[in-house]
Amino acid sequence: MPVTDSEALATLHRVFGYEAFRGEQEAVIEHVVAGGDAVVLMPTGGGKSLCYQIPALVRPGTGIVVSPLIALMQDQVDALRALGVRAGFINSTQDFDERRVVEAEFLAGELDLLYLAPERLRLDATLDLLSRGKISVFAIDEAHCVSQWGHDFRPDYLALSLLGERWPDVPRIALTATATRATHQEITQRLNMPDARHFVASFDRPNIQYRIVPKSDPKKQLLAFLREEHAGDAGIVYCLSRNSVEKTAEFLTRNGIEAVPYHAGLDAGTRAAHQSRFLREDGLVVVATIAFGMGIDKPDVRFVAHLDLPKSVEGYYQETGRAGRDGLPSTAWMAYGLNDVVQQRKLIQSGEGDEAFRRRAAAHLDAMLALCETAQCRRGQLLAYFGQDPDPAGCGNCDTCLTPPETWDGTIAAQKVLSTVVRLQRERGQKFGAGQIVDILLGKRTGKVIQFDHDQLSVFGKGQELTEGEWRGVVRQLLAQGLLAVEGEYGTLVLTDASASVLRSERTVPLRKEPKRPAASRPGSAS
Ligand code: ADP
Ligand code: ZN
Repeated sequence: MPVTDSEALATLHRVFGYEAFRGEQEAVIEHVVAGGDAVVLMPTGGGKSLCYQIPALVRPGTGIVVSPLIALMQDQVDALRALGVRAGFINSTQDFDERRVVEAEFLAGELDLLYLAPERLRLDATLDLLSRGKISVFAIDEAHCVSQWGHDFRPDYLALSLLGERWPDVPRIALTATATRATHQEITQRLNMPDARHFVASFDRPNIQYRIVPKSDPKKQLLAFLREEHAGDAGIVYCLSRNSVEKTAEFLTRNGIEAVPYHAGLDAGTRAAHQSRFLREDGLVVVATIAFGMGIDKPDVRFVAHLDLPKSVEGYYQETGRAGRDGLPSTAWMAYGLNDVVQQRKLIQSGEGDEAFRRRAAAHLDAMLALCETAQCRRGQLLAYFGQDPDPAGCGNCDTCLTPPETWDGTIAAQKVLSTVVRLQRERGQKFGAGQIVDILLGKRTGKVIQFDHDQLSVFGKGQELTEGEWRGVVRQLLAQGLLAVEGEYGTLVLTDASASVLRSERTVPLRKEPKRPAASRPGSAS
């Protein structure tokens, strides 16, 4: 008899109050309850928690949950206790006495679930403690953190490969929402789970409409988007900096949209208050840095808007995935522009981390840019990124499917940009950012153009056929296609290995046409 006919299903009803399992949950739970190892890939909101919580309740002993999200442990444990589950956690936020209480409960067999931060498992004291109790299952949450190529690598996760050797009879379940094929393999290998069964849920979120628009006046574009499509809806607006979070929240409030800021610079009380208002109230907008959202479980988030470019496709997918958990139509909307690319490249180059780290960050950014600049179905590109097969006919629910972008032969335009970069470098030994290159092509005699005699260059004024916005679009797409690169603190443009083939006319450069400026730039529509 499948276990789900009996104890697991009974536990789902009795403890969690749910009718039925979702998607892969039943298969995963059945496998783990029977003692098998499992690697589970499920998108955010897919219901990963039950995959280990129910086996922990059904099997004798305590389920050990390894999670890097220390800040959420208290909430998770409180929520479980409210359901009558005997849960506890051990992490660095506790004092000695609190920890002793939890340890004693574990040893006495009085815990169903014990949450631990990964660094704990490097301590002999913790391993000793675990050896003296009875363990039902090891759950390794956010398992992609073991991947050195992922966007979230945590060295402490590497120590988790020990668990299988030390407790060969205890099933292990590794869970993640973000895994490309490469990460998936790395999880299996580094956690030493060669015999694990793999459960891969679909990453498609069909009710989310993906849209990426060129950035002109982001706050006004956002306002128009909210007024036209999401008046009175709850949603999250992501910005990169605390400063822009504050300014955007003020701007929305001033324009009649109820919005509160959320970022790590606010005191804990304010943050908690804003978060709980968001969960409780209808139609509140939270403007936040990515500090907001982990573990937030609000089903009716109708939109997620990005005013700045996420650092990776994984980040984008995770953040947009907070929209529409109830399955109703929702929008993932983003405004993106050339400055985003330049700024992020600068951050990577001036940031901490070794060369390998930078290369990885750059590769993540490249994948994100490719998603922004694609003329193909966005959903298809997302799914392919996660190693899943998209519908070749397109999804019909993203901007590129709904209004297919026109493409044009941008070979000559690309050559003009690249040869301006070459001339500056070869003839003058100079490097400049995108703004100067575009000014030269447009033949603008700005102070900086005069100062450097750039009106004497043969390319000066040779690009009048396109507008400034269009030229910036060309530069952006060249960056996204790897035909141009950004360098150094000032974001100067330099050629790549691939640039030469364009300059020698050995290849063409298809570019996507800049869509018409959105209605948001109507003058006087907002202040
Ligand atoms: P994840 O960890 O994959 O992001 P969660 O485990 O937090 O997702 O689950 C997301 C939401 O779905 C939670 O509110 C959870 O209670 C709910 N949920 C999970 N499984 C079921 C189910 N079988 N039936 C109803 N709701 C469920
Ligand atoms: Zn599509």
